[in-house]
Amino acid sequence: MPRVETLRGPLDTSALGRVLIHEHVFLMDMEYTYNYRQDFFEDQTIAQAAAKLQALKAVGIDTIIDLTVLGLGRHMPSLAKLATRTDVNIIVSTGAYTFDDVPAPFSFYGPGLLHDAPEPMVDHFVKDIVEGIAGTGIKAGELKCAIDEPGLTPGVERVMRAVARAHVMTGTPITVHTAPKQETGLIAQRVLAEEGVNLEDVIIGHSGDSTDIDYLMKLADKGSILGMDRFGINFTMTMQERVNTIAEMVKRGYVKQLTLSHDCACWSDFFPTVDAYNKALPQHNYLHVHNDVIPALLEAGVTQAQIDTMFIDNPRRHFEAAARRFANK
Ligand SMILES: [Zn+2]
Repeated sequence: MPRVETLRGPLDTSALGRVLIHEHVFLMDMEYTYNYRQDFFEDQTIAQAAAKLQALKAVGIDTIIDLTVLGLGRHMPSLAKLATRTDVNIIVSTGAYTFDDVPAPFSFYGPGLLHDAPEPMVDHFVKDIVEGIAGTGIKAGELKCAIDEPGLTPGVERVMRAVARAHVMTGTPITVHTAPKQETGLIAQRVLAEEGVNLEDVIIGHSGDSTDIDYLMKLADKGSILGMDRFGINFTMTMQERVNTIAEMVKRGYVKQLTLSHDCACWSDFFPTVDAYNKALPQHNYLHVHNDVIPALLEAGVTQAQIDTMFIDNPRRHFEAAARRFANK
């Protein structure tokens, strides 16, 4: 049975259960938080996160993929403290999140640079997957990169190719943050395929921010899974628009390539307090898919079996297929 690494160690993929494929636990600019948000380091941050995750488990959701990588404030000491305090499986990620330049430490360090060396990001990502992250022994189970409005800048391309190489070396599947308006998912697919990635091992994140069925079909026809993953961010699109897009894609036969999530966090320095976050985005919490989205999908004609495919089978296949392909290489 293939296994996937989680905060509490390896887990049989058969035990993944219902999976939210694109979430965060703690989301921040770590330098800012260190300097201006000492409240993050108080015990209550962990306690509140544990309570929110336990509430998720109580409604039958078993696993989240935490896509917090370099650039989004991944803080392993806090995640490690959380490990024993929640029954939700948390799959930790490695990679880097940037829309333009590489993270600053790689500006002069890498192939052809002042300190000329093979791409250090590949070593970092592979180490996170094989040995564990930041001395905790907790291993990453997912890779992540981003391509937003600015498109394929040199920095974005360097990170994306490093993520692809780490995937080829380890078989760890990939999620890409994309900007559907600029159709950057298609660019990501091209670059990843050039590096030898099977596009079935890739989730095109934030595809759910689009209602453009032609674009979504183009991505899906190349084999990737679509992240319908920003439920609760309702200032750009309504929940109903997001639901209708899924219903249409299901009708067109793409149910095996759709996944559900919120892209939310227990604690984020994007807002000055947790209360301010809840006030700005009242539905942006881990329970929104369960409480509101699934009833709306059923209402829109999507069956419970199809919801299970999106919620259970597709995330499981995301990990199993990548592992199987890697084992057979
Ligand atoms: Zn995210």
